[in-house]
Amino acid sequence: MQNKKKTQSALILSLCLTTIIPILVVIYLIKPKIIYEFEFNPATFLIISITAFIVFMGMFMLLKISNSLSVLSKNATRLAQGDLAVNNSIVITPTLKQSTEVSGLAESLNLITEQLIFNVDELESKAILLERSNDVLEKLNQRKNEFVSMVTHELRAPLINIKQCVVMLLEGKIGQLSSDQKQSMLMIKSNSERLIRLIADILDVTKLDSTQLQVVPVNLKKAVEESAEAVRHWCESKGITINIRNIPKTTVIYGDIDRIHQIFINLFSNAIKYSHPRGVITINSNFNKEQTKGPMQRQFVDIEIKDNGIGIAPEDLGKIFERFVKVEHSAYTRTSESTGLGLAIVKEIVEMHGGKINVESKLGKGSMFTLSLPLSMRKDQDSQAAA
Ligand code: ADP
Repeated sequence: MQNKKKTQSALILSLCLTTIIPILVVIYLIKPKIIYEFEFNPATFLIISITAFIVFMGMFMLLKISNSLSVLSKNATRLAQGDLAVNNSIVITPTLKQSTEVSGLAESLNLITEQLIFNVDELESKAILLERSNDVLEKLNQRKNEFVSMVTHELRAPLINIKQCVVMLLEGKIGQLSSDQKQSMLMIKSNSERLIRLIADILDVTKLDSTQLQVVPVNLKKAVEESAEAVRHWCESKGITINIRNIPKTTVIYGDIDRIHQIFINLFSNAIKYSHPRGVITINSNFNKEQTKGPMQRQFVDIEIKDNGIGIAPEDLGKIFERFVKVEHSAYTRTSESTGLGLAIVKEIVEMHGGKINVESKLGKGSMFTLSLPLSMRKDQDSQAAA
């Protein structure tokens, strides 16, 4: 408290005194007579000397305080820029101590810096802990994926054998079956097919978690035609037609060719699965006018896959892209082809490519899935892919 008062009075005194000189100058200019009548004696000399000393001391104090404030301001700026080494540079000198406000400010700044250093240390140690837990989780996830891959591979081979034996029995290659036996064999066949499909989908999901895309320019029309060819037998067995319309030969997308095929095969399979016999599936493409902003500018193509099948109820539209979600009220989902993973896989692959998938549907009328996939911007490679 005492220190504070001392500083305040010194400041007030020095400020008052720094105004005396200009006042004297003004008096000298306005009333020269008073100055001429001024008599020099020891008392006057003493007063002038004391005044000069006080003025000098006041100015000296002001200079010191202003220097200290400028040091503090520089340190505060360094602190704001994240330079925590500033902590050591704020030394509270005896002169700084004389001004309680300034030394208080310096102490506060030091405290803030200490607290910041403590917080940064704590954050750094938490970041190290997080990094370690992340490494452990990644290793565990890798082991889980390896385990799932191994188990699914081991399960698939005997299941395929079982299915082949059942097919041979059903075709009468091993001997004739009674109608009851045929019914049981058909049930075994349909269940083994369902298990084989489920295993394949689980393998796909596991692979998606651990593999990276091999991105190359892909001719869109060719990829659609090849995928349609892969499901041709299934289409023929149901009398379903696939119409590929309006996909320019020159449209080249940028993606992983196997994954792009997987997207189309899954969507075509669903369209076949959930369509009535003699249904029609139509594929169209449109250039998307939207463009991503920033240095990695990309253009997209919209691909529509439309069917006139059973459709999806509005309340189910939001959940069909989740893993293992099947719309249970549909009689079709109880077939051997249904696993509830197909659309989840499609969505993940599309998003891995930086694209989007949407669905519009009317129950009893049909569904339309729209994919937005990035177009290739690399003209040199596009011509090769288009060929
Ligand atoms: P699933 O193996 O059951 O077909 P999906 O993830 O591929 O699994 O599809 C999830 C659900 O979305 C399906 O159970 C089905 O009810 C519905 N669905 C998907 N595609 C279509 C479609 N083209 N028409 C009608 N319903 C569909």
